[in-house]
Amino acid sequence: METKKHEVTILGGGVMGFSIAYNLAKRGVSCQVIEMDSIAAKASGRNEGGVSSPALLAVFFATPFSPPFALQPCAKIFDETYFGQPQLVKELHDLTGIDIEFADTPCLMPAFSQEDEKSIKNLVSMANKKVGESKGYEARWLEADELRALYPPISTEIRGAGLAGMWQVEPYRYVLSLAQGAEALGASIKIAEATGFRTRGKRVTSVTLSTGREVEAEKVVIAMGPWSGRAASWLGVKIPLKAIKAQALKLQSSQQLPLYALAWGEGSGNGPFIHRTVPGPILAGYHEGRPEAWDDSRPETWDDRPTEEARDWCIAGMLRGIPSLEDAMLIQARCGILGYAPDSLPIFGSLPGWENVYIGAGLGTVGNSLSPGASRLICDLIIGGEGAEKAKKRLASLSPSRFL
Ligand SMILES: Cc1cc2nc3c(=O)[nH]c(=O)nc-3n(C[C@H](O)[C@H](O)[C@H](O)COP(=O)(O)OP(=O)(O)OC[C@H]3O[C@@H](n4cnc5c(N)ncnc54)[C@H](O)[C@@H]3O)c2cc1C
Repeated sequence: METKKHEVTILGGGVMGFSIAYNLAKRGVSCQVIEMDSIAAKASGRNEGGVSSPALLAVFFATPFSPPFALQPCAKIFDETYFGQPQLVKELHDLTGIDIEFADTPCLMPAFSQEDEKSIKNLVSMANKKVGESKGYEARWLEADELRALYPPISTEIRGAGLAGMWQVEPYRYVLSLAQGAEALGASIKIAEATGFRTRGKRVTSVTLSTGREVEAEKVVIAMGPWSGRAASWLGVKIPLKAIKAQALKLQSSQQLPLYALAWGEGSGNGPFIHRTVPGPILAGYHEGRPEAWDDSRPETWDDRPTEEARDWCIAGMLRGIPSLEDAMLIQARCGILGYAPDSLPIFGSLPGWENVYIGAGLGTVGNSLSPGASRLICDLIIGGEGAEKAKKRLASLSPSRFL
């Protein structure tokens, strides 16, 4: 048994686990993150780094090609994340000095057909009624002339585009800055695989590791991404998470593209998403298959290797949007596994039947856009008191007790 006891033990060192650790450490709560691989080794370090504005989510997630995600119950969390992100980035930079390549990359949603145009215009106006106008971050429709003036290399096939706000971060550096920020404030990190819990009554007393050692635990947070259902099952709780593979490409081009992201859907995938990252002309395409229920009792069979099919699909989509990118050179293929609940909502709250266990999982394709806001609420729950009551109410529809 390890003797140093932290108030909170967090399982999983992705964006969710380290967002929770950072917020706990900021509030003076001692915590430790246990990660089986390395910091942001899975989806959190392999994604496209988009942090979507509420208006973008309201348009994009309402399109038929959107990834499955139920937006409305999380709207306020998305809002808090988006508007709080510049401050968080500054805080992390002051603490760690890490440049996370934060950029303002508004997102264009191009219309390729009359039907697309009608639907995007409609969604833009609906989004503004819901979220945009009051904050000055409204979505807009750009006619072809305005679009081409803003983004000259865009395909002449495109009739116009929706436009809404989006921030961008370099995902691995972002999680690294959360981890180092948490460490600077007193948190610690342990590389080890959690394999079970020791319990007394309705409380977990320690986390068991694959080495056979145990880590004493006062409170535990399960933030293991798609593997979170596995940890809940060690406590007899069924969390029905589905795992889905998502892929992206990083490419290099001699062309300086305007600083916008592009997002549209084609075929069975929800990409391509094309981001121009700073400082270099680096782009990424994005592909996601439709949900497939992988056997969650055997995560060792989950395959997170990039596929040729996704690569070809992303490149074809990218060239359809920006034909002049023919010279782009592939420098990296990324693939990660996402966790989705059957109702496409994230899972945030106390684990039913257990007094000192919490979960932050099922972030699907929007982990960067949800984790800052959600982690603050989960910290409120953990710390207790009046804040916990408020957080409990706000997270009620996202609680794992909905699966009972
Ligand atoms: C190609 C791609 C593009 C994406 N683009 C975006 C985007 O632009 N914007 C956005 O918001 N989101 C995006 N996402 C989604 C985003 O990456 C996820 O929502 C997010 O990373 C989920 O974070 P997490 O911390 O919950 O899970 P993970 O990143 O999966 O982290 C879970 C961690 O738990 C660890 N773990 C598992 N089991 C154990 C164990 N037994 N013991 C200890 N540790 C364990 C894992 O090793 C892992 O590091 C994208 C994802 C992909 C793959």
